[in-house]
Amino acid sequence: MIERQTPEVILPGATIGIVGGGQLGRMFALEARRMGYRVLVLDPGRGSPAAQVADEHIEAPFDDPAAMRALAERSDVVTLEWENADVATLREIERIVPVRPGPGVLEVAQHRVREKDAAQSLGVLTAAWRAVSSRDDLRDALREIGTPAVLKTARWGYDGKGQAVIRDPSEADAAFDAVGGSEAELILEEWVRFSAEVSVVCARTPRGETACFPAAENVHRNAILDVSIVPARVAPAVAEEARRVAEAMAAGLGVVGLLAVEMFVGEDGHVRMNEIAPRPHNSGHYTLEATPVSQFEQQLRAVCGLPLGSTDLLRPAAMVNLMGDDAGTALGRPGVADALAVEATALHLYGKAEARPGRKMGHLTALGDTPDQALERALRARALLVGPGG
Ligand code: AMP
Repeated sequence: MIERQTPEVILPGATIGIVGGGQLGRMFALEARRMGYRVLVLDPGRGSPAAQVADEHIEAPFDDPAAMRALAERSDVVTLEWENADVATLREIERIVPVRPGPGVLEVAQHRVREKDAAQSLGVLTAAWRAVSSRDDLRDALREIGTPAVLKTARWGYDGKGQAVIRDPSEADAAFDAVGGSEAELILEEWVRFSAEVSVVCARTPRGETACFPAAENVHRNAILDVSIVPARVAPAVAEEARRVAEAMAAGLGVVGLLAVEMFVGEDGHVRMNEIAPRPHNSGHYTLEATPVSQFEQQLRAVCGLPLGSTDLLRPAAMVNLMGDDAGTALGRPGVADALAVEATALHLYGKAEARPGRKMGHLTALGDTPDQALERALRARALLVGPGG
């Protein structure tokens, strides 16, 4: 195995390896290429969103050790856009190339119990929770936490998959079966009565400098992000607390790259960490238009050891997702022209050939003088794009 010295700063001309070929990798690759870097994508899908715009594509499963080794040997630094990459394989390739964020961060982000443990040890509030591995555990946990509560798989959960709400203790068995409890590690969480959901994307360099983007206020539909509004319409003290939580989590976990932190704003006005993702985040897409440096450029700067860019909000913004169920692929839709007639609105499509329900196909970002004006524009643009009848 080749041992290489990592230079302090990785300059344009270098190759960035990225694990994952989805839209986050696509937007990262576009930004990295704009800045003169080469991008090598590892992803099993032919013509995946990131592979379409990368310099090169290694078409292989994420747990293919030979393909991962090839990625490492041909890259100056490896980053990721998909947090379910195989931690053991990343540990192997870390001997060849810097992996940023490192496998240790992934190990936490892949497991809801570890996330909550990490938060707790850093003094960050979460919803009340218990690890559950049997029906008996679940009954005990329900006695302690009460109802309503939500039972989730500890691993592989995203966009509301692997979750069952328990409104009454009599529903425990059905919920246990619904999330595949006999085979999976689980977590029971108190159902938080939140006044808002917010998220903060925080960047951290190898030297430990951090910069957080303004908190986004998020609205979910069927547990999938639907709308992000920035600045979040919360009290300044709440936004500041959200920023502090994200920074504490990024520093505490030793992240190099990005850490997105999703939080609930409780009725008591304090934030509770829900989930972390060591990568760019859907709720940070607004940064492509509304901050001097986007989350994708910031990821690049952080993993290359470059100075972090300004995260100042230039104008209020709102981002709305375009899902396979309502916008199809959006290609060829006459409504696209109507949507783009809405003032200060930008369209992003991810190059996915097939539209499926629940699949993120693209997004629209609108700027405005106020968050409400930006939101009104973004929603109007989406309604025009989707057209009557969806
Ligand atoms: P997650 O996969 O944990 O991000 O959950 C998806 C969405 O479900 C969240 O953004 C919330 O809207 C909702 N949700 C998840 N867990 C809870 C909870 N403990 N209390 C209230 N709402 C929740």
